[in-house]
Amino acid sequence: MTTALITGANKGIGFEIARLLGERGITAIVAARDEERGRAAAGRLGLPHVRLDVTDEASVRAAAKQVEEEYGVLDILVNNAGITVWQDDERPSATPLEVFRQVYGTNVFGVVAVTNAMLPLLRRSPAGRIVNMSSELGSLALAVDPDGPFWPHNYVAYNSAKSALNMVTVAYAKELWDTPIKVNAANPGYCATDLNARTGHRTAEQGAAIAVRLATIGPDGPSGAFLQDDGSVPW
Ligand code: NAP
Repeated sequence: MTTALITGANKGIGFEIARLLGERGITAIVAARDEERGRAAAGRLGLPHVRLDVTDEASVRAAAKQVEEEYGVLDILVNNAGITVWQDDERPSATPLEVFRQVYGTNVFGVVAVTNAMLPLLRRSPAGRIVNMSSELGSLALAVDPDGPFWPHNYVAYNSAKSALNMVTVAYAKELWDTPIKVNAANPGYCATDLNARTGHRTAEQGAAIAVRLATIGPDGPSGAFLQDDGSVPW
């Protein structure tokens, strides 16, 4: 049996990742911060669920304990849960510190907390995989191109949190370099989900594909990479 845990899997891209992993015969655990939303989503997919709020350390610890008791091992962790905080004025200088705290709390610190809690279980897997859902908006190289499509999208809290997540990905990949565990960042592209009031031009299923690929890559696959459907995303 191959086990996977996907955070924020009750809707959006995370739901599609759980569905696609489940279709491959993987026991994909739908992790959701709200018990009822998690139960309902898992029920639709015929998959197990666990309550997990990535910003609540007690909830993270309890989820890891539940996975350990029920499965004893975790093969795949997809750190998918993420938020944006919309502002009337998106200028960096108009962004309250509290917005940074909220966004970093989920999109960066949440990933670190869940990864650390699940790592002992991932180490028991013969081929552990960690996938962090990043964004092209976190790419410094794309952000600084005045002629590129990302120049106008200057959301300082969200974008810098995804840049930080990219470095977190690299740092864990390096620590785990001599183990079977691979750690990669995925760019799903701009997908129509609640995160962006469904303005994306891709579907959540399309966004899920790269995460599923990285969650199931073989031993020759990359670690410490930032990938999208057609290859590497520039850092
Ligand atoms: P979404 O539809 O808004 O789903 C976000 C998921 O994260 C929901 O299940 C949400 O749960 C969960 N979540 C939020 N805070 C949480 C917390 N503290 N603990 C546990 N779960 C929490 O957004 P999405 O577009 O699918 O986003 C998924 C990931 O892809 C995010 O990391 C996002 O940054 C990334 N991404 C998205 C796009 C895009 O175009 N959509 C592009 C690039 C990257 P609730 O239902 O309880 O709120």
